[in-house]
Amino acid sequence: MLEKMEHRLNAEAVAEEFELLSMDAERVQRETLKKILEENGETEYLLKWGLNGKTDVNSFKACVPIVTHKDLEPYIQRIADGEKSSILTGKPISTISLSSGTTQGKPKYVPFNDALVESTMQMYKTSFAFRNREYPIGNGKALQFIYGSKEFKTKGGLRAGTATTNVYRNAEFKKTMKAMQTPCCSPDEVIFGDNFHQSLYCHLLCGLIFWDEVQVVSSTFAHSIVLAFRTFEQVWQELVSDIREGALSSRITSKSIRSAMEKLLRPDPELADLIYDKCLGLSNWYGLIPEMFPNAKYIYGIMTGSMEPYCKKLRHYGGDLALVSADYGSSEGWIGANVNPKLPPELVTFAVLPNNGYFEFIPLDNGIEGCVESEPVGLTQVEVGKEYEIIVTNFAGLYRYRLGDVVRVQGFHNSTPELQFVCRSNLVLNINIDKNTEKDLQLAVETAAKVLAGEKMEVVDFTSCVDLSTEPGHYVIFWEISGKAKDEVLKECCNCLDTSFCDAGYVSSRKVNAIGALELRVLKRGTFHKIMDHYVGLGAAVSQFKTPRCVGPTNNRVLQILSENVVRSYFSTAF
Ligand code: AMP
Repeated sequence: MLEKMEHRLNAEAVAEEFELLSMDAERVQRETLKKILEENGETEYLLKWGLNGKTDVNSFKACVPIVTHKDLEPYIQRIADGEKSSILTGKPISTISLSSGTTQGKPKYVPFNDALVESTMQMYKTSFAFRNREYPIGNGKALQFIYGSKEFKTKGGLRAGTATTNVYRNAEFKKTMKAMQTPCCSPDEVIFGDNFHQSLYCHLLCGLIFWDEVQVVSSTFAHSIVLAFRTFEQVWQELVSDIREGALSSRITSKSIRSAMEKLLRPDPELADLIYDKCLGLSNWYGLIPEMFPNAKYIYGIMTGSMEPYCKKLRHYGGDLALVSADYGSSEGWIGANVNPKLPPELVTFAVLPNNGYFEFIPLDNGIEGCVESEPVGLTQVEVGKEYEIIVTNFAGLYRYRLGDVVRVQGFHNSTPELQFVCRSNLVLNINIDKNTEKDLQLAVETAAKVLAGEKMEVVDFTSCVDLSTEPGHYVIFWEISGKAKDEVLKECCNCLDTSFCDAGYVSSRKVNAIGALELRVLKRGTFHKIMDHYVGLGAAVSQFKTPRCVGPTNNRVLQILSENVVRSYFSTAF
């Protein structure tokens, strides 16, 4: 008992530490930059820009340019190829993260080191401390739908995998999960299995085995939770039978997963009956999660940005259970913690941890739609209500790096800003003078999906592209839907999509036919699975998977998967 207490996180101390940091955000930022530049001042990159050992904000901004990933690619490639000199960091980099790069269709290499693990753990602990005040949990387990990606070695012998995999493999991760009273239900063999369909099945099985101990149902991104319970709907009888017999389904062929699962499985007809009855008692799977896991206190995962469209389905599976949206970060480092866990996912903000990196913000004076860029401002100089693109300087070799995300300042927590995620800056549908972001697309899809909801059907997933192969170019929206809708319904959905993009550039271009009629292409069931499998094959992890909401013209393979799976298409007649 004493041992357990010693390992438990002192949540109040963590929250207090965050209060102190956030009260003095400006000083913490200056000191954080100083530390980064002291550690890395002798690197080829910083010497090249003539910083000459200076560590103050003004010199840094005057000497070092703002860059994109493309600018740093040659340096990162040399590290990946095994060059031992101090290129971007003072200490050698031994691991590379693959960031998702879903739009361009190609994962990007990002340097990874222990400092990023440390800041990830700080982020987890900080939001947990605030979450636990509102939704305290007892000792138990977390049903975590997490998956390691394939790991490989770069040409120079560095380990490469997704950032989440690099974190899950780190001993600190397990320690932190234990300290937060929520170790994962599933053994490592399931998390790191080489076939994610088999891992998903076994995550579900582990959750059911430990059904009454599950305190939290979570994943990194909400997509994985929805995917898991959609799968549950298909395989629940097989899961019940495994529990009844104490024998694992033959669908699991991975030896390591089988042997790990066999250690957990015992014939348990009583539990099998219980689950069977619960499943039969549900209406259209509403409230599935609390029914199966009655001691769960909340559902946790990133539900903002491109994950927002999954909230509706999560609410359906979650019934009365609270949805708590997780923190904001990237392979390049964590940015902000959700310290107001009671907010619904659509309103969640992220309080920036000022010691996680040095942050700058490019004001987008007319929002992303207007896109007038000016000089970046510091963390504490941002203004409430304005939109900015984030620039990150981290402890792993990125200096003044454009992350590619647009955020809005919603308020301040002490002196650190609370940011709302707006969108990826490059995810815009644009043909003429129109500009529609992933958020605009999401809103249009939500509006049009109401027509479908009237027919008791839903949009399972969606994406888009612009088609310039005919004059004038037009928007194409791809939908996978949960049933077979009538042509009239889909025609109405198509018109509704077209009229729901309400930016003035789009509407005026449509009126004069400078943009052609919007096209809705309906996809075969399972198309988005194929897209995810494609990304997983490239080294992406299901844990970090984000459906690309806009597919770029160079992303040939995804465009091909989409076009091969179109079953019907409709052109809008709305204008
Ligand atoms: P990755 O490239 O896989 O590391 O993904 C990082 C990107 O995921 C970020 O740059 C954001 O665009 C997105 N992201 C991460 N956390 C959140 C969040 N809490 N809300 C919305 N988008 C997020």
